[in-house]
Amino acid sequence: MRTVTLSNGKTVEVECLSCALTSGAIEPDGGVIAETEFFHAHQDVAYPIKGLVILASKRHFKGMDELTEKERLDYIDLLARIRKAQRDILGIDFVYYFYNEDTTHHFHTWMVPRYSWMEAFGRSIESVRPVLLYARNERNNEENRAEAMEAIKALKHELNG
Ligand SMILES: [Zn+2]
Repeated sequence: MRTVTLSNGKTVEVECLSCALTSGAIEPDGGVIAETEFFHAHQDVAYPIKGLVILASKRHFKGMDELTEKERLDYIDLLARIRKAQRDILGIDFVYYFYNEDTTHHFHTWMVPRYSWMEAFGRSIESVRPVLLYARNERNNEENRAEAMEAIKALKHELNG
């Protein structure tokens, strides 16, 4: 078991945070953005970035090559639908996708929208971690959290009709 600190400051003991989130044992702030038979999309509002989405599998595995054929199709379909909603509803021009297999959780992809304030951290992959840390430590105010929560609501509405 590991101790994980949630965005609301509470700590929980879990084997795998992704399992806890996708099974509904832990409710992410803002709730579920979209859900299919195999995948679950939510935001971690500890990083108050408008339109940031984490897409996690429901099944516990880590490698891209472990996806079943049905999961593969479902993954790319949902990923593309979320991307389209980010563009259509939130006006997001660019998204950075991040996923690593040596995670302490299980299979999940970060979809990080690119905003002009992120230019200060450079471009491409080396900017992603500093951007996330800056968002969590320096932009975690009422206004940005409210904006992130509004975006969750808008994406939910777009993706779930
Ligand atoms: Zn898991």
